[in-house]
Amino acid sequence: MTDALARPRRKNPIVRTRPMQLPPWARSRVALGLTAAAAEGRFELQVCARCGRTQYPPREACHACLADELDWREQTGTGELIAETSLQHSHDPYYRERLPWRLGMVRLDCGPTVIVHLHGDVPPPPARLRVGARLDKAGMAVLIGFPAQETPHMADDRQLREMTCDPKYRKVLITDGRTAVGQSLARAFIAAGADRIWLGQAEAWKAPPGLSAVSSLPQVTVLPLDLTDARSVAELGAEIGVKVDILVNNAEHHRAHGIASRHGTDVARAEMEVNYFGLLRLAQEFGPIMRARGADGTTSAVAWVNVLSVFALSNFPEHGTFSASKAAAYSLSQCLRAEMQLAGVRVVNVFPGPIDDEWNQTLPPPKLNPSTLARAIVKALQDGIEDVYPGDVAQEWLARWRENPKVLERELAHL
Ligand SMILES: [Zn+2]
Repeated sequence: MTDALARPRRKNPIVRTRPMQLPPWARSRVALGLTAAAAEGRFELQVCARCGRTQYPPREACHACLADELDWREQTGTGELIAETSLQHSHDPYYRERLPWRLGMVRLDCGPTVIVHLHGDVPPPPARLRVGARLDKAGMAVLIGFPAQETPHMADDRQLREMTCDPKYRKVLITDGRTAVGQSLARAFIAAGADRIWLGQAEAWKAPPGLSAVSSLPQVTVLPLDLTDARSVAELGAEIGVKVDILVNNAEHHRAHGIASRHGTDVARAEMEVNYFGLLRLAQEFGPIMRARGADGTTSAVAWVNVLSVFALSNFPEHGTFSASKAAAYSLSQCLRAEMQLAGVRVVNVFPGPIDDEWNQTLPPPKLNPSTLARAIVKALQDGIEDVYPGDVAQEWLARWRENPKVLERELAHL
């Protein structure tokens, strides 16, 4: 059984932090289909539309009948471990620093035989197990063999923790503690075992509801942070930047306007100042520091979470300028993801539907409860997912957007 992760000792400031060595990341274009599904937490394999066989590794054509009609379909991953080995030597720098490394060969019930990273709680072969897909430090899908049933401290497995962004014993910066979402996030991270929470607070002279209750929790410290002010962001970066393992940017400015419903650009500018330029300022201050700590032991810098909006995918005209600012933030976060990936720090994008807050008062239910959103974010980190669409509205929009973005555009214009 996995030993519970011990609280890490204080870091020796004289010891140099290792630079990040990424695991091998070369993949064919077709193999990225596995990564696209794993990014949302699914294990998918190609299934031939003609002969019905499931195949692995991904290929351009069916290995049995050569048909090229191959659909990606979700798999249960059940199978049998038929062999295992423990890697004691590797020429690859990433694995060389992490030896020994357990690997297994699994005959999946759906057909193919696959090589997997093997969780420490899977018994020796022959044994039933469940294979799942996870993103590794290079952001590429890899297969992991999990025990058939949950085991105690399962998430603390050394190999699995390399693939997830588990908050346990990590230090978290939440950029806006004034909102119900920010405060729910603090509570959800504490429940997940986070070591320390910093909550940003702009306009410190105001007393936002709920903040004093959260700030009285022993793990929580409230610090001034105004994303519209480059100096404020730089000062916080200098103060706590080297300690932040997980950064959650939940700060947003949201007003319900289209183009015609308000004259001038002041509201749209204010939205861009927080939602787009705020993210850019944060990324410039905290990005380089977190990149330097991607390989910093069991509590390395591991994830950067952006709370975007499902309106980033397709403009919702009733909230038109807000949608545009979130689309800009989404595009920037893709750039951030590419840059942080080089250090093994995962950028997680969250696309909630309308949140149950004052700016969505006029929208009909269902709306996303802040605590549901917070729990979904923490779970995504624990599961190592990088694209999150929490709640029914976001799931439905995503499905419609995937099916046909143009049709969704017309539907949203007439809501
Ligand atoms: Zn076939």
